[in-house]
Amino acid sequence: MSPPRKLHIKSYGCQMNVYDAQRMVDALAPEGFVETANVDDADLVILNTCHIREKASEKVYSELGRLRVARDEAAGQGRRMQIAVAGCVAQAEGEEIIRRAPVVDVVVGPQSYHNLPHLLAKAEQHGRALETEFPIEDKFGVLPQPAPDAIRARGISAFVTVQEGCDKFCTFCVVPYTRGAEMSRPVAAIVEDVKRLAENGVREITLIGQNVNAYHGDGPDGRAWSLGRLVRRLAEIPGIVRLRYSTSHPNDVDEDLLAAHRDLPALMPFVHLPVQSGSDRILAAMNRKHTADDYRRVIDRFRSASAAIAFSSDFIVGFPGETERDFSATLALVAQIGYAGAYSFKYSPRPGTPAADMPEMVPAAVMDERLERLQQLIDQQQSAFNKAAIGRTVEVLFERAGRKPGQIVGRTAYLQPTHVMAPDSIIGQVLPVRVDSLERYSLLGELASATSRPADAMAATGA
Ligand code: SAM
Ligand code: SF4
Repeated sequence: MSPPRKLHIKSYGCQMNVYDAQRMVDALAPEGFVETANVDDADLVILNTCHIREKASEKVYSELGRLRVARDEAAGQGRRMQIAVAGCVAQAEGEEIIRRAPVVDVVVGPQSYHNLPHLLAKAEQHGRALETEFPIEDKFGVLPQPAPDAIRARGISAFVTVQEGCDKFCTFCVVPYTRGAEMSRPVAAIVEDVKRLAENGVREITLIGQNVNAYHGDGPDGRAWSLGRLVRRLAEIPGIVRLRYSTSHPNDVDEDLLAAHRDLPALMPFVHLPVQSGSDRILAAMNRKHTADDYRRVIDRFRSASAAIAFSSDFIVGFPGETERDFSATLALVAQIGYAGAYSFKYSPRPGTPAADMPEMVPAAVMDERLERLQQLIDQQQSAFNKAAIGRTVEVLFERAGRKPGQIVGRTAYLQPTHVMAPDSIIGQVLPVRVDSLERYSLLGELASATSRPADAMAATGA
């Protein structure tokens, strides 16, 4: 038997890329590849790139410069290192990468990575291989399932892609071009994936998609199912104690989803709902197709479904033409909603998107200053949200050993990291924790064991 070949994947960007990286590992496992954390040892290095923000492609080219050195060193030891570029930069710049970076063997877009074994073989024979088409076959239908050992090694929390692509065409965003048109996976395929994960120790599933609540996959009854209906079905799977979904669009929040929040204890009351700006003028220029008031109403609907729901969001500062008045409207919206956390970014023109050609770029210094003010406000809100947990008992799903001996780390419903001193056996269980204090963004506390309910027991009783 030939020794295993070593694979190193460096992933940038969103949760979907983290998930894609795992599926590339699964696609290459039958070819005898095992993962290595050390790039210098690797027989194959994959850069799984992101094209969303700032200088994404330059970063890839400078990383490729470093990899050329590693590859030359490997060659000096009589070893061949293959290099592949995957993800959204690969999709956007395919031919250009082949032209500018001779070190690259394979360029593969996000819709084609199931073909990696074939592309690597092709590169072996012909020198290079490129695939950035949007193939007709569904990659999920042909990707090999992860091995039970691989699932266990990845821990108790897993991502599952249920929807890909986007038809919304926000004027700043490359996703509709790099990930293609919106498509939803069939319910039965997702149920199978989640059952397999649960059977191998996974307790928490995050359903992911660029526009996850636009989900409309074929159901077993021949009808299109909404995300709310899908979540309801997945909550029945033994072993699954927590469900999440990300990222949602405010225009696609329907009654099924709200009802799922109302009825299902397994659906976590933490919703990532990007708004981008609080100014109607900027929202229109962004082609978001909602106003700030529409967004406020969506938040109110969630809150009426469950008062426990907390929100996070994404914001872009310095979109072309953004005035101080527009920016104040964003600050006012944040102040009014009160977030448990949020991501904020400086606008970055993405080649090929409509906003990249808009005049009135906001000067860099103004963007910096606005970003700082927004982040300060969000930080204050996040700290207040975290502080409010002190003195309370919260349910924590324990994930792994912490850095200190005897310490175990888990997360609350709101994804707050929580540290307790406890035996390893609590990993995979949801247990109540009395929160004593805060250390930066983490909660510190003790198990409130009297009322503890192991996740497995809850799942077994269907609770
Ligand atoms: N589909 C999601 C949505 O509609 O909000 C998220 C898409 S994107 C992967 C994640 C975030 O990146 C966006 O919500 C936006 O805030 C940010 N983003 C996208 N394009 C950007 C750009 N050109 N400049 C700065 N930030 C950007
Ligand atoms: Fe990009 Fe807008 Fe689609 Fe989100 S909804 S992926 S921001 S185009």
